[in-house]
Order: sequence, then C-alpha cells, then structure tokens
Amino acid sequence: MITRGTARSHAALRVHVLYTGGTFGMADRGAGMGPRSGIGAEIADVITRYDEAMGRAVEFRYAEFDRVIDSADADPDTAVRIAEWVRYSTEQERPDGVIVIHGTDTMAYVGARVAFELRDLDVAVVFTGAQIPLDYPGSDAQHNLHLALDSIAAQPAPGIYIAFGSALHPAARARKRACDDYDGFTTVRELTPPLSPPVLLPRRHSTATRLPVGLLTVFPDLRADLLMAAIRQYPGGIVLECYGSGTMPHGAEVVETIRTATRRGTPVVVITQCDSGSVDLARYLPGRALLDAGVISGGDMTREAALAKLAYLVDLGFSGEQLRDWMTTNMLGELSNPATTTPLPATVREDASTVRSR
Ligand code: ASP
Repeated sequence: MITRGTARSHAALRVHVLYTGGTFGMADRGAGMGPRSGIGAEIADVITRYDEAMGRAVEFRYAEFDRVIDSADADPDTAVRIAEWVRYSTEQERPDGVIVIHGTDTMAYVGARVAFELRDLDVAVVFTGAQIPLDYPGSDAQHNLHLALDSIAAQPAPGIYIAFGSALHPAARARKRACDDYDGFTTVRELTPPLSPPVLLPRRHSTATRLPVGLLTVFPDLRADLLMAAIRQYPGGIVLECYGSGTMPHGAEVVETIRTATRRGTPVVVITQCDSGSVDLARYLPGRALLDAGVISGGDMTREAALAKLAYLVDLGFSGEQLRDWMTTNMLGELSNPATTTPLPATVREDASTVRSR
C-alpha cells in the first residue's frame, strides 16, 4: 500500500481513505471492466466537492492497495490486510473515521471479517463502493463516497459499516442484494448489541498456518460425496447453509460424514438460508440428527458473518468446546441473543396436546 496524497484544511472532518479496487475506480479493458490504480487525484476532487456542498472541510489521508483488485479476487488475507492498515493508520493519527473503497461483490464478506478483526477499534470504519465507475455517466461513486463522509460526520458508534445507496448498514449483518440497483446492500437482520461485552480474545494470530474455512449451501439431493469433498478441502471448518430452522437431507451417509468430521475436529456450523428467523436444531428430526452429529448452531448469523467469524476464531487457534462457545456468543452484534429468538413450536405443541386430551 502507498500513501498517495494529503489535503488539509482547518476545523476539518478527518478521514483516512483506503482504496482497494472494485467498480468504483474501474475502466473498460476491452474484454470487460477491470480495476484501475492511481485514482488519488479523482478521490481528492470528489472530497473537495463534498467540502464545497456541505461547507465542511475534510482533511484526509489516502492510500491504495499495491495491487488493486476486482473484489471477486478477495482471498482470506484481504480482510486481514485491510484491518492491519486501518489499525496502523488509526494508531499513527486518530481520524474521525476511516473509509474503505471496495468492490461490492465481496464487501459484506470482507466487511464482516474486518468487523471481527477490529472489534476493539474505537473509530468507525465505513466501507463503500459503486455499481457504476466514477467517470461513467450515471455513476453512484461520488454519491456513495459522500454518504460515507456523511456517515462519519454523524459520528456513529465505533464499528464497521457499509455506506451504500441510501443507507448505512452494519457490516456484520449486511449482504449485497442487487447488482442492478443503486441500493446494492441490505441489512438482513438488525445488529444485536451483546448483552455484556465479551472478554477480549488474543489479538494477534498467525496466518502462515491458516486452516481454510468454507461455505456450502444445502439443496435437495445434496450428496455425502460433495460434503466429504468440502470437508477435506476446508479442514478449518465448514459453514453449512441449511434450510429453515436448520434442516437438510439427513440420510445416514450425510449424517455420518458430518459426525466423522466433527469427531476429527473439523467444526460444522449450521446457519439458515432464510432472511428471517434463526436456526433451531431441536425443532425437526433432521436438525436433531445434525445436533447429534456434533454441529454448532450458527443462530441467525448471515452467511458472510458466520464464515468470517469461523475463519477469525480458527485463525486465532480456537477449536473444540472453546470454538463452540465463541461461535454461539454474540461478540459484536452478529448474532441475536438466544432469548430474543422465539421458538414457534411452543404454541404448536400446546395445541397438539389440547387436541389429544379431548
Ligand atoms: N466485480 C466488482 C467488484 O466486486 C463489482 C463491484 O465493485 O460493484 O470488485
């Protein structure tokens, strides 16, 4: 990463800007759009226009990734690099907030991981990007960067956010919802502040011996072979995006594959494909079979947050019961507190017993 420029003025909003790539700065490469580096001067222009429009001076530091990317190429290191830069940069000089310009495709995944990495940061970090590049007609790049500046000016609680279209989303609960709409993101579920602040985990970890973590969506006719292949490829653990309250085709082979994995120490975390409600493994027989096979309930975490949290904890060296405890603890709002998820079957069971007793 390199520092590209600094503009200063008095009584200013102080922001640090990191440009990582994405459509925001892309150009037509003939065979499709690709990332473009060296856009510091254009960012400065956009910030100057904010300054003029809002009458609020902005003092900013700007940096770019050495190699800007289409965020489809984000890898497990991308979020860690961003988090390291933010930590370093905010330790050098305390800004009012940090803006990360990022591609939209993996913004929710990377944002969620950064949320775990920087859970103790006392400054707001706002991710933003664009559906249409900065110098294209109809571009939303300037609007989104201004929204990110507005969000920082409004002094949100420290945390990681996505500013996009018309809203500010908590990264740990956000998802890309559209590639044809300026409102590209949604807050799948509201952030649930932890009941009590969790004890801080050790901060540094080694990525040299990283165990990869994967995500698999359940579908009718999911076979044990595919599950087995996924478990082999991702020994760090698997997030299994199940149906409804945590069900999947639960033939003996599938269940035994999961049991073998969890016994060998590969965690399997169950989340739901639904946008509302939570995993409740005790509700249906398939869920009970998964519970019995040793899976961890991911509650109502988004797929992005569940994957980020699992990878983060595995990178920190957690396994077994400790990993289970942390996965089921609301660390920063990514998971509803257990009491707030209402189990539907309570009413159903009551009705059934009433019917039987007649
Ligand atoms: N493919 C682009 C990216 O994620 C899409 C975008 O930025 O909107 O980098």
